Amino acid sequence: MAQAPKALDDARGRLEAIYEHLDVSEDAQVRLARPQRVVEVSIPVRMDDGSLQVFPAWRVQYDTTRGPGKGGIRFHPDVDASEVTALAFWMAIKCAVVDLPFGGAKGGVCVNPKELSRLELERLSRGYIRGFYDCIGPDEDIPAPDMNTNATIMGWMADEYAKIARAQYPAVITGKPIGLGGSAGRVEATGEGALEVLKIYLEQQDKKPEDLTVAVQGFGNAGYYFASAAQKLGLTIVAVSDSQGAVHSKKGLDVDSVWRHKNKTRELKGILYSETSVDEEKNVDHLSNEELLCLDVDILVLAALENQITEDNADAIKAEVILEIANGPVTSNADKILGEKNILVLPDVLVNTGGVIVSYYEWIQNRIGDYWPAEKVNERMRERIGREAKACFELASEHKVDYRSACYMHGLKRITEAMDHRGTHGYFIGDC
Ligand code: GLU
Repeated sequence: MAQAPKALDDARGRLEAIYEHLDVSEDAQVRLARPQRVVEVSIPVRMDDGSLQVFPAWRVQYDTTRGPGKGGIRFHPDVDASEVTALAFWMAIKCAVVDLPFGGAKGGVCVNPKELSRLELERLSRGYIRGFYDCIGPDEDIPAPDMNTNATIMGWMADEYAKIARAQYPAVITGKPIGLGGSAGRVEATGEGALEVLKIYLEQQDKKPEDLTVAVQGFGNAGYYFASAAQKLGLTIVAVSDSQGAVHSKKGLDVDSVWRHKNKTRELKGILYSETSVDEEKNVDHLSNEELLCLDVDILVLAALENQITEDNADAIKAEVILEIANGPVTSNADKILGEKNILVLPDVLVNTGGVIVSYYEWIQNRIGDYWPAEKVNERMRERIGREAKACFELASEHKVDYRSACYMHGLKRITEAMDHRGTHGYFIGDC
């Protein structure tokens, strides 16, 4: 089996191809080749049994030319400096694609949070802020939730920051609970933003949601809110999966009832039937994650981890369209194979920006001290992601490139222009 490439090499490798279509100054290319800042700390945590454990943790600011760093904090046993750097790079591209005044950053802790008690998790979360207090802030770098972190954790972190600062700075972190200055609409934002991009694509292709089937890999927050809203739009969700495996029903699952079950039992394994067609008990079958990826559906949604479609399984994919809600779920070698098979990929750097867009609105609301209703947040998010999606789609047809390249071109143009405005290279080449 071919070794999946390190996410960072893969992410940077894509830049080289983009430079062939986009005129990027040498200065900007040199700057984009390396992260601006990589900070590693060890977080000591007193465990409930009295022992002390130390967890390695990172905060990476890949580039802050367009504004303070922005990006989530991930708790996962596979987290390392290279993965966090790749994720920070993607955040820089993402923020630029949807024109947010932010650079790209990311954080991570190498830990299996499922093995920690709630109090241990709180001590670890507060320890993260103590460790990185000097490099974050509303004008420096603004963390948010990512894999295995949520509003409660962001609340503990905001509280720890306020205690150290002896002042309230709600804008230091986004994705907080509403009672602590979080924004209405933040939890649903990534899934709903992804659906908005898909909707625009389907409209342009003259395809009707009622005629289309969907399989969703990854049934966490993003995957669930996407699937629930997609079902309301008329799409048929035939399969969803978590890390243990997938449930599948040809007639379509009742997404909300599957979600309720998962929240009760923490897994999809025990589901025997779907409430949409209860006439046949046991009308769902159980598949492996790999089988879900290879289902014969119209749309395959990837909302789990990086490197899910690689050169090893790309050939077996039957879906017509792939919607990337996770960061980096398709490797660049797999991208080539999918391209040859005419499978269209709607890329992560556009599709999953709903979350960071609403984080931006949360940051604005915290700074002006005025809070908006969910409808206003949602409408502004859909308007922004829709406008930028159309611009990316147009760029793709103008330059005859795939959607991923078009999105990178769209974002990189903004980043590199900002870099050039800050730099002095123009003096040497007689440009200004
Ligand atoms: N972790 C999310 C992402 O990868 C959200 C980041 C944010 O809201 O800053 O886009």
